[in-house]
Amino acid sequence: MNELIRKLQTDRDLSDRELATVLQTGDSDDALFAAADAVRQSVYGKAVFVRGLIEFTNYCKNDCYYCGIRRGCKSVQRYRLDRQAILDCCETGYALGYRTFVLQGGEDPYFTDARVCDLVQAVRARFPDCAITLSIGEKPKDSYRAYFESGANRYLLRHETANDAHYAKLHPASLSAENRKRCLWDLKEIGYQVGSGFMVGSPFQTTENLVEDLRFLQRLDPDMIGIGPFIPAPNTPFADKPGGTLALTLRLVAVLRLLFPHALLPATTALGTIHPQGRELGLHAGANVVMPNLSPVDVREKYALYAGQICTGEEAAECRACLEIRVRAAGYEVVTDRGDVRR
Ligand code: SAH
Repeated sequence: MNELIRKLQTDRDLSDRELATVLQTGDSDDALFAAADAVRQSVYGKAVFVRGLIEFTNYCKNDCYYCGIRRGCKSVQRYRLDRQAILDCCETGYALGYRTFVLQGGEDPYFTDARVCDLVQAVRARFPDCAITLSIGEKPKDSYRAYFESGANRYLLRHETANDAHYAKLHPASLSAENRKRCLWDLKEIGYQVGSGFMVGSPFQTTENLVEDLRFLQRLDPDMIGIGPFIPAPNTPFADKPGGTLALTLRLVAVLRLLFPHALLPATTALGTIHPQGRELGLHAGANVVMPNLSPVDVREKYALYAGQICTGEEAAECRACLEIRVRAAGYEVVTDRGDVRR
């Protein structure tokens, strides 16, 4: 293992087999995390970037088998925030020092291109010094271009799994890995800073699938890579499937840091949900971004992608204070600039 970690630190030229070995070996995790932390410190120092997350609609036309806000999940109380409510969230975030707003939602047909553009223009006009990140799923290229021209800079779209057959086990036939990847290439071509990623331990996932995910990411070369454990959501087809583990998620964070020294890697809410110190452990394994919730408290519980989601009860300011304490206690520093990628 030491030899493989050394390779990951130097030319990063590992075979598929060697990558699989790293992912399957647990007894060298401390050395792996230390190597990842050293690489992250060499590029980003102790900085941890903050993105204010605004979950502005939980309506979704898709029926992804794992997702708690899938269309078929009838128990979900649906909501959408209007433009003013979204701007108010940004205002709160701005006062707390956030310079990146992530507008995330289900694929909600109410938010036509015209409405998305109008929203982005309003945020852009009010917060000219901030980055605007959209995370609203798969769209035609022209739509992505229109949002970009309205002032959006970044787009988060996890590829979920790079393997077609595995993708088909997680989604209905109306959705395909091919189209999801097409979206990512379109976004890059238009000029967005792109974030992709996948769930760790999603049903039917194999180590070979994970290696394919790493290879796909190497081709795409995104600015941000978000991963988190799969966590079963009630009233979904995968409600009784086992969740992804902390150990494998942390190992993947570390491998991603070593393979992508410059990437922005969030210590995700899902990681914090499966372990009380999950996000801090994520930082120690190479993560350098946290995404505190800016959504109004009364809608947080309704945006339940999975069971037991943390941070649903706190006001934005409390979230901010809590994260500051956690990040500092872990030995890092919260930075309140836009947190652009350093290439
Ligand atoms: N509609 C947007 C946002 C999806 S929600 C889009 O299509 O990109 C953001 C991410 O949450 C998803 O990409 C998925 O990777 C993750 N997610 C969804 N359900 C989950 C679950 N049960 N456990 C863990 N992560 C989940």
